[in-house]
Amino acid sequence: MKEILIISGKGGTGKTTLTASLAKYMKSKVICDADVDAADMFLLLKPNVRKKMNFKGKSVAIIDQDKCTSCDQCRKQCRFNAIDAENGNYTVNPYSCDGCTLCTLVCPVNAIRMEQMVVGEWYISQTESGKMVHARLYPGAENSGNLVTMVKRQAHILAEEEGSEYVIVDGPPGIGCPVTSALSGANLAIIVTEPTFSGIHDLERVYEIAEHFKVPVWIVINKYDLNTENSKKIEKFASGKGIDVIEKIPFSKCIIDSVVKGEIPADNCEELKKVVEKLTDKF
Ligand code: SF4
Ligand code: SF4
Repeated sequence: MKEILIISGKGGTGKTTLTASLAKYMKSKVICDADVDAADMFLLLKPNVRKKMNFKGKSVAIIDQDKCTSCDQCRKQCRFNAIDAENGNYTVNPYSCDGCTLCTLVCPVNAIRMEQMVVGEWYISQTESGKMVHARLYPGAENSGNLVTMVKRQAHILAEEEGSEYVIVDGPPGIGCPVTSALSGANLAIIVTEPTFSGIHDLERVYEIAEHFKVPVWIVINKYDLNTENSKKIEKFASGKGIDVIEKIPFSKCIIDSVVKGEIPADNCEELKKVVEKLTDKF
């Protein structure tokens, strides 16, 4: 089984548009949306949720009100000001709690326990393009790197069960911890970029991470004809690194209109469908 990861150095390059289109036309695959901070592939693939599970993050302190004697020790000693006392009622703000466990040690009546906080949900769904693993992180929640690792692992388990040849992953944008998690274990990274100054800069940065993880890279330039000079710079960068600009997608109002309508662009736009077919032939 091969994992094909689609990433971009920044958001808004057309990464999800390409992933959803590839997902529709690839055979024998499980789809994975690992862009957990801004999961939006569901808008195009319209998943029908079949299984829903909680995703747990850091451990936080919980106060048992029945045991608490309002001695104030925990609030006084918490260095993160995570404990509030209102009318003798002691509660922990889970977003401020660092999980250090000090309060459990100072409480004289053992009224405090640590519990893992539910910070999101993950799903296995059916779409018209195949089975999909995806997730949602609650607003303000951290740990997206762990959630990326988790959805990828679940997608691999599902692909094994289904006997699928591929896991196709819509990766997180940028170059942070979630991208590092997404690159770990990928067999191929397709970097979607655009011919702008920031597009080139972000491509270089995300390429360095992929290179560090020794993941083979293909580059796709989206809207390449909007600035052919910058597209040539991208090609020069790629040839300097010994990698391929594997495909170039022209600017297309049809693609934008399809995304706005929530339809898979490759279904409607011949120029994208041709690119998708050429890519799937090369996998
Ligand atoms: S676990 Fe640490 S950070 Fe959280 S409430 Fe207790 S003392 Fe404060
Ligand atoms: S240390 Fe224990 S008993 Fe004292 S206020 Fe905190 S939770 Fe209540």
